[in-house]
Amino acid sequence: MSELQDLIRSLRPDKPREFDEERPIAMWTEKDVSRGKVVEAFVLILRTRGCYWALHSGCSMCGYINDARMEKVPDKAMEKQLEKAMKKYKGEKVVKIFTSGSFLDPNEISPEMQSRIIRSFEGAERLIVESLPEFIVEKNLQDIYQENLEIAIGLESSSDYVLEHKINKSFRVKDYVRAAEVLKSMGIPLKTYILLKPPFMTEREAIEDAVNSIIFASRYSKEISLNPVNIQSHTLVHHLWRRREYRVPWLWSVVEVIKRAKPKIGDVRLVSWPTAGGMKRGAHNCGKCDKKVLKAIEDFSLTQDLSVFQGLFCECIEEWKEYMDIQDINRFFV
Ligand code: SF4
Ligand SMILES: [Zn+2]
Repeated sequence: MSELQDLIRSLRPDKPREFDEERPIAMWTEKDVSRGKVVEAFVLILRTRGCYWALHSGCSMCGYINDARMEKVPDKAMEKQLEKAMKKYKGEKVVKIFTSGSFLDPNEISPEMQSRIIRSFEGAERLIVESLPEFIVEKNLQDIYQENLEIAIGLESSSDYVLEHKINKSFRVKDYVRAAEVLKSMGIPLKTYILLKPPFMTEREAIEDAVNSIIFASRYSKEISLNPVNIQSHTLVHHLWRRREYRVPWLWSVVEVIKRAKPKIGDVRLVSWPTAGGMKRGAHNCGKCDKKVLKAIEDFSLTQDLSVFQGLFCECIEEWKEYMDIQDINRFFV
């Protein structure tokens, strides 16, 4: 185990949160896009044992360790969760089914249950599930394949150095490419998550890495989601943030990455929904302009129209630039 992994493990909660295994973690609706139109999306977060990698050590920004445990949630309990979800589902055109890990990991959801869950949403236009590349193999996908299925992978960065030394990801870029090729051969669209500002990077380095990573992932993806880091308890970024050694990214950085990357990726959709945006623990600016900048990012995500950023201004844009200049000089993480 590396030093980084030891440090991440040392920050874990003593005990995982109590949970009712017959109840999904959460369900809600939000806006998304399908067939070029803004539509309602149904989001379902299922309770499973959680991410195997979080149980090993986990990624430096991921709070899923708070939900992970060794015992598997049995199929019977998963069925109850599915029943509850079907009661809430009102035929929304986009369905996103997440776990605190990988939908395709048979230790989280058995292959039979994966199939039953997927089939329950046959009527949706888009059905998105998340998985680590490790579980994306043709054999596993054959049983659950249906036309509306899309798979999301959290690549985070196209740099192996960043994956290993700043995020502690379980896989490397070549594993993502292999999984992307399997999906392509089966005609399953890929959505890729790119992380903005892992720890131990300056704001400017983080912007460069996100722009490069989006351009790289656009070769394989139908959609890319830019995810600015937010602070979740018991993570390495939480530990650094409390010691004032980490600042979450500025919303100006999110805008900058979108403005630079979008013209280089053609028709691939680029979206960003910053978790806890405008709050202390999420990507934020000065407090005065956060709402309008977040609204512009949301408008862009729904329309793909870069003109939403025209004329977007606040005095803190100078502070953001100075912050980057000072970091460049000091290489000091405040
Ligand atoms: S980011 Fe993904 S791979 Fe990393 S610990 Fe969280 S769920 Fe697991
Ligand atoms: Zn401002």
